[in-house]
Amino acid sequence: MVDGLGAPLAAPLFDRLALIGIGLIGSSLARVAKRKHLARTVVISDASTEVRAKAAELGLADEVAATAGEAVTGADLVILCVPVGAMDSVAQDIAPHLSVGAIVSDVGSVKSAVLAAMAKHLPKHVALIPAHPVAGTEESGPAAGFATLFVNRWCILTPPEDADAKAVKRLADFWTAAGANVEVMTPQHHDLVLSITSHLPHLIAYNIVGTAADLEAVTQSEVIKFSAGGFRDFTRIAASDPTMWRDVFLNNKEAVLETLGRFTEDLTALQRMIRNGDGDGLFNLFTRTRAIRRGIIQEGQEIAAPDFGRHRDDEG
Ligand code: NAP
Repeated sequence: MVDGLGAPLAAPLFDRLALIGIGLIGSSLARVAKRKHLARTVVISDASTEVRAKAAELGLADEVAATAGEAVTGADLVILCVPVGAMDSVAQDIAPHLSVGAIVSDVGSVKSAVLAAMAKHLPKHVALIPAHPVAGTEESGPAAGFATLFVNRWCILTPPEDADAKAVKRLADFWTAAGANVEVMTPQHHDLVLSITSHLPHLIAYNIVGTAADLEAVTQSEVIKFSAGGFRDFTRIAASDPTMWRDVFLNNKEAVLETLGRFTEDLTALQRMIRNGDGDGLFNLFTRTRAIRRGIIQEGQEIAAPDFGRHRDDEG
């Protein structure tokens, strides 16, 4: 198929898939699971009555359960797609309802804190394998999802040290069938890598858009009118979900502060280059950074168009 998803599987990988939290990521997973026949039955649940109603209206799953406990009953794969700060309470809610041998995973953007929050509630008879699909848009909610969201994106699995290798492989196969490339690493390493590739860029975008909004000498209409000068690209990132990003920074504090420290030092060095008229220094840095973008395009993680390649090319 041209969109990279391929044909539905001849036999599903799981019998009953339960997705808790049916926003952008959960609804995208539901769509791809249905379309690719990744599970015999897809059941979804969400804390919000409105979201459950919308998900039912969109026909996202075979069943829409009123509670998370009901959704996970009998499931052999459970994936929590709720904000990072809600993982603890959802894990507590579902724990008594989980089947023996079930794989329990999540899609949270932070991994050490989520592993700790979930592990303390889950029974020994399930396999906890946290994961993070590095794919998304600035949209939220069940209508924002689409089946091809994970195609050619990385999904990072962060199994605990004593994880069952067979369960890790089954989850890796699930994400591969959803179109993703899978990599396995420790939760600590994940949090450090994502602090620089995702968390810090979001913090910088939130900050620059906030600064522009507060700059008295420049009017709001000028900020909007001349935004194509670079600002516009930051506003897309700074439009990301406030709940999600609040939870990311509260739960990846150490790695973000470490990366931020390094960033601040480099920013000070840039400040010095500007003050000293060090054109060679500026030129050399800008040449190195240009090469990084070209590398990302070559890896297929971006297209050359100036919208970060976040096209919504599939309504399914
Ligand atoms: P979203 O669109 O806001 O969806 C989250 C859904 O979870 C909402 O419908 C929310 O309902 C529901 N929810 C909140 N607390 C709940 C609870 N206790 N029980 C059941 N449902 C609950 O967010 P998202 O973008 O899909 O993000 C979900 C997860 O994916 C987050 O952990 C995030 O870190 C991770 N992630 C996001 C991206 C991205 O770019 N968006 C990328 C990769 C991973 P209400 O709206 O009523 O609160």
